[in-house]
Amino acid sequence: MSQLRPAVFLDRDGTLNVERSYITRPEDLVLLPGVAAAVSRLQRAGFVCVVVTNQAGVGRGLMTHADLDRVHAELARQLAHDSVTLDGIYFCTFAPSTNDQAAVEHPERKPAPGMLLRAACELHLDLTRSWMIGDTLRDILAGQGAGCRECILVRTGHAIEEEEFHRASPFILLDDLSAAVDWILAKHPQV
Ligand SMILES: [Mg+2]
Repeated sequence: MSQLRPAVFLDRDGTLNVERSYITRPEDLVLLPGVAAAVSRLQRAGFVCVVVTNQAGVGRGLMTHADLDRVHAELARQLAHDSVTLDGIYFCTFAPSTNDQAAVEHPERKPAPGMLLRAACELHLDLTRSWMIGDTLRDILAGQGAGCRECILVRTGHAIEEEEFHRASPFILLDDLSAAVDWILAKHPQV
């Protein structure tokens, strides 16, 4: 039985790449500055790096699974330019009926923790030593629901409306993914 590994769960839009309402074409995917280097630092420190992303555009009929695959191939291509390969991409295509960030309508759509729990099972991850990084309340709630040790909100995506974040347990707020990685590695320089 292999030892369980720590992970960093990464939201996609607004965390790794520039937030746009729906990214349906590869040419719309633009990595944020420093993202490849930040992921590389995590992996070199021993963290499994897994993207967990809500992609309701598929469920809403705005794009197909094949379109989503092409966008993720482009994400992989851009990261590979800096010799970085993600350890996994989990997505949920369910289309919700409400904009309430705390509403759970599907077990794998964030704020539900289902994608993180499935990744933990399939990739043999230790959630208690794992982190979640994202740009919305949904990301924070999903990480907390999965039992991650800490969750980090970054300012690179959706505008942060402070009052709605009272619905989450305490979390960390930092400027971007690079700052989040600095924080994680300062707490856990070796894993
Ligand atoms: Mg996001």
